[in-house]
Amino acid sequence: MKNKLNQKLINLIEYYNLININLLFSNNPLKRITDNKSLSFSGSKSKKLERLRASINLIKNCELKKNATNMVFGDGNINAKIMIVGEGPGANEDAEGKPFVGRAGKLLDKMLAAINLDRTKVYISNVVNYRPPENRKPTEAEIERYLPFLLSHIEIINPKIILLLGSTALNAIIGSETVISKARGKWIQKKIGQISPWIIASFHPAFLMRQPDQKKLAWVDLKMIREKVKKI
Ligand code: URA
Repeated sequence: MKNKLNQKLINLIEYYNLININLLFSNNPLKRITDNKSLSFSGSKSKKLERLRASINLIKNCELKKNATNMVFGDGNINAKIMIVGEGPGANEDAEGKPFVGRAGKLLDKMLAAINLDRTKVYISNVVNYRPPENRKPTEAEIERYLPFLLSHIEIINPKIILLLGSTALNAIIGSETVISKARGKWIQKKIGQISPWIIASFHPAFLMRQPDQKKLAWVDLKMIREKVKKI
């Protein structure tokens, strides 16, 4: 009985450490990555990923999680130099538990193939790990809640290059209010925990499906990635 109570208390403390509890009581504007709060996990890379996945699984009282079928954690090569961050799972991803497996994913695969990449050479995840109902954008509070997990995810994968797809990933990681059309196609180096990857933003493939005339700009960004990979 005492042991059970102790375990419950440990779980509760762990949970409050995981959620950004200060945010609930703070009147300050959101600062996001400037706070750089990633969680730390020990062990080998795959052990750390396993522990991160288990932590996400512990999330409680989350509308996304309640409505989702599966957690969408990540896909690809955990030792890749390039990590891609999307917004959040859609219906297909929710059903399969894998990122970018629907129509946007097919376009992403084509974009990667255009610069000789595929899923064996990149690692992919999202800002939120559960599908937002009706494919709505994740709210500020949801992004804030999942951000420590994403930052840890990035730190564990330790990519040299991060491609942010769309404004949600851009705003979550760069913390700016810049619109994607202005911020895309520019390299910035940013400290995330103990690592300093090169980061570039580009249009989300779902946006490119709606605005195919923007594909030429996405192509410019892809070529920038192709060149950067050669140098690092
Ligand atoms: N869109 C995203 O942002 N992520 C996915 O995994 C699928 C579609």
